[in-house]
Amino acid sequence: MLLSVIVPCFNEEKSLPYFFAEMAKIEEVLPLDVEYILIDDGSTDKTLKLMKELSVKSGGKVHYFSFSRNFGKEAAIYAGLQNAKGDYVTLMDADLQDPPQLLVEMYDLLVAHDLDSVATRRKNRAGEPKLRSLFARLFYYLMNKIGETELVSGVRDFRLMTRQMVDAVLQITEYNRFSKGIFSWVGFKTEYIAYENVARVAGKTSWSFWQLLKYSMDGIVNFSDLPLNIASFVGALSCFGSGIALIFIVVRALLFGDPTSGWPSMVSIFLFVGGLQLLCLGIIGKYIGKIFLETKKRPHYLVKESDKNRP
Ligand code: UDP
Ligand code: MG
Repeated sequence: MLLSVIVPCFNEEKSLPYFFAEMAKIEEVLPLDVEYILIDDGSTDKTLKLMKELSVKSGGKVHYFSFSRNFGKEAAIYAGLQNAKGDYVTLMDADLQDPPQLLVEMYDLLVAHDLDSVATRRKNRAGEPKLRSLFARLFYYLMNKIGETELVSGVRDFRLMTRQMVDAVLQITEYNRFSKGIFSWVGFKTEYIAYENVARVAGKTSWSFWQLLKYSMDGIVNFSDLPLNIASFVGALSCFGSGIALIFIVVRALLFGDPTSGWPSMVSIFLFVGGLQLLCLGIIGKYIGKIFLETKKRPHYLVKESDKNRP
């Protein structure tokens, strides 16, 4: 049985050697053959050079695909899944934040409980900036409250899947990919292993706070139409409210005459309603933007170079 290990890499020249050193130890105890699918997501350092060396040295065990530019981790995951040949497939970060030693435990659990997938989640967020943790928690809370797809708090992309589940995931070809949501959406029997957060072995994170915020907004928009419903609801409510206010004002003017005053309150109302409209337009725009990207049917990524064994 073959296990494909997919590793998206963006400027990971410092971590990759550590990663392979760790994996070598795991390969000895894992009752599976292992192949590596390394995805170079437009790195600007020596990551690709390193990958080539690893590939040559491994004698056909390490495969690499190098993108023509940075397409993002989601695209890299997709490319990896498309090119993995294994009976089992796992996704791992290059920075050892997904502890390789867990793989053994994951495989045992998968076999013992006859599962389709074993996923991992972080028990805590030690060593992460406070604000980032707060927003991450808020995101998982929101996702679970409003999305139809369940998302376990702190879930990682690190998971072991059977071929059947990988094929199911590959059937989802949408352009706006949010893998954590997709893995949950396809269903299948999944169990979670929790572990303590580990710090990056080398290099630095490539996600800025704003990128993460955007990524989580994408997650919500991709898996829920609740924001649209909220927009309609708020619109209806403000319509209803202003209807009542109008009647009240007209009746009051008829009964007590109309001393021309209340200009400031009028302006406030205009601004408020204008703001509401813009907000709702923005929400609708977000979805239209997604449709726009989806209908263009652009490729998820472009491969510039790959190893000769697997064009
Ligand atoms: N990554 C990638 N493309 C990107 C950003 C990140 O392939 O545009 C890879 C990165 O090399 C690493 C994994 O995704 O293997 C997780 O990234 P990182 O460790 O920077 O994120 P964090 O763990 O801080 O969330
Ligand atoms: Mg990391």
